[in-house]
Amino acid sequence: MNKICMCGKKMAIRINRIIYRHKVEIEGVPIWVCLGCDRYEVLPYVKEQLLELVEELGERPARQILGFGERNEIARLIAAYCEKGGNPRQLKLLVEERINELLDMLLLARSLEDTPWEEDIGRRLSVLTAYPIPELLFMHG
Ligand SMILES: [Zn+2]
Repeated sequence: MNKICMCGKKMAIRINRIIYRHKVEIEGVPIWVCLGCDRYEVLPYVKEQLLELVEELGERPARQILGFGERNEIARLIAAYCEKGGNPRQLKLLVEERINELLDMLLLARSLEDTPWEEDIGRRLSVLTAYPIPELLFMHG
């Protein structure tokens, strides 16, 4: 459950804001923070999508504020998890709730024959169902 920093102290999951090129604020990024020193790292399971987002923004992004949780289901989950006090049991429940919510949205998108929306929901669902999220999040090398 715990990740240990190189300095030997515990690390905790926090939701943070990342500033890119002094112009873009990316809010809701889950990170591991060391409780002893200033070291932090982005959670491995969202790193790839964060890098994709940064690539999309390019070298000269316009000034803007983005919500990472709107683009990344795992980031969204961890934000909700931190809000609820960081109880791992809550996390499992939050995953189930979100999957049910997305399934409802999927039915709605289908009945409206809104294909792009349906595809977006499908992608979000596959992120949540592909991994045993609670276990994965806290496993670290
Ligand atoms: Zn440390």
